[in-house]
Amino acid sequence: MLEKVLIANRGEIALRILRACRELGIKTVAAHSSADRDLKHVRLADESVCIGPASATDSYLNIPALISAAEVTDSVAIHPGYGFLSENADFAERVEESGFAFIGPRSESIRLMGDKVSAKEAMRAAGVPCVPGSDGPLPEDPDTNIEMAREIGYPVIIKAAGGGGGRGMRVVHTEAHLLNAIEMTRSEAGSAFGNPTVYMEKFLERPRHVEVQVLADTHGNAIHLGERDCSLQRRHQKVIEEAPAPGITDAQREEIGARCVRACQEMGYRGAGTFEFLFEDGEFFFIEMNTRVQVEHPVTEMVTGVDIVREQLRVAAGLELAYRQEDIQVRGHAVECRINAEDPRSFIPSPGRIDQYHAPGGPGIRVDSHVYNGYNVPPHYDSMIGKVIAHGHDRGTALARMHGALTELVIEGINTNTTLQRELVSDAGFQAGGVDIHYLEKKLQRNKD
Ligand code: ADP
Repeated sequence: MLEKVLIANRGEIALRILRACRELGIKTVAAHSSADRDLKHVRLADESVCIGPASATDSYLNIPALISAAEVTDSVAIHPGYGFLSENADFAERVEESGFAFIGPRSESIRLMGDKVSAKEAMRAAGVPCVPGSDGPLPEDPDTNIEMAREIGYPVIIKAAGGGGGRGMRVVHTEAHLLNAIEMTRSEAGSAFGNPTVYMEKFLERPRHVEVQVLADTHGNAIHLGERDCSLQRRHQKVIEEAPAPGITDAQREEIGARCVRACQEMGYRGAGTFEFLFEDGEFFFIEMNTRVQVEHPVTEMVTGVDIVREQLRVAAGLELAYRQEDIQVRGHAVECRINAEDPRSFIPSPGRIDQYHAPGGPGIRVDSHVYNGYNVPPHYDSMIGKVIAHGHDRGTALARMHGALTELVIEGINTNTTLQRELVSDAGFQAGGVDIHYLEKKLQRNKD
């Protein structure tokens, strides 16, 4: 097993990684910013190193500082968590060139999937269904693009190859707006992502977001852990996630899962990954792959019993996956609500001191959070302060347990979105299952009116 792992992240995921390391007898180093000395995992880690000031650019995104932190602490591997440098191919490369294991895929895989045009090409070649579109970058020639949009059929969406975080996209409903939209997206993409390449897709009008979790080792083994539904989104940010996706049949799960597994094997993928799809009228359409552990990984852990972070660590140590595909069964249903330090109506972030904190408990409840009584939520980072996960033998039980857990949860001193989450869990449309990706925005709009 790995001897010592440097955790290059913060908050709940840093704590999650620390817990997995402890179970495996791995020593931990918490690399943290000067604003994060009081983080729970910093206190629990075997060692800690301050890698820079509060600003993420100077700390959690500071590659030289992280490499030296690994060097001075004799770490053998670096876990990047999610966000920050987790999908930065240059970082992964630097980590490995410096003699450490990067707990994630090879930098080539990150680079391939980081460019959405090359990602879609690789997926098409591997037999993974994609959203119909330009099959490559858009050419300069206006007539070719007009012709292409006619063939695909309006509405279409123009997307930046280097885009991410829901940015660099423009929906076009009529031909009159097409060329202008292509030009605007190109120039924005050039300045925001340093890559002006854009491509075109059919714009699906009421899809669900369904994603497939995979694991692969360095011995040619790859498996899938079924799917999650993350359709409840605000500004392309997931709010509630669940596994399995309501209404997906075993046959559909096996078929799309097997295609993702084959794609992993073809590209020599390593570690944990997620294939994201839009799902409409019974069909899956690939949009992108995330080459890291995801915020919503616990719902998959709850229904399969597989510890995804543990497998990441085992794979990085060169071991074979502890499971074969036939060992994986989806049992019951799990839901996750993200708890954010923000106003539940205006969504304005609400950092500050937590005066009272009581975590919920009881059958089927899991809380992944780094906060405690007296913890000060710093203003410098993402507002997510934890996740409540509920598991039950069926979806109704999981939702009822979640409702109870959100009622028990006490966080005083700052604002959180807990009341909104409780409202969403009781929402009739959400309870029925299978809402599309626009459902939440429409509901929030109705609440406002
Ligand atoms: P990002 O990397 O910025 O998250 P994605 O390609 O994953 O970009 O798309 C983000 C979101 O944008 C999707 O979850 C979906 O809501 C919307 N979207 C992207 N492509 C399409 C499409 N072809 N049709 C409809 N919605 C889309």
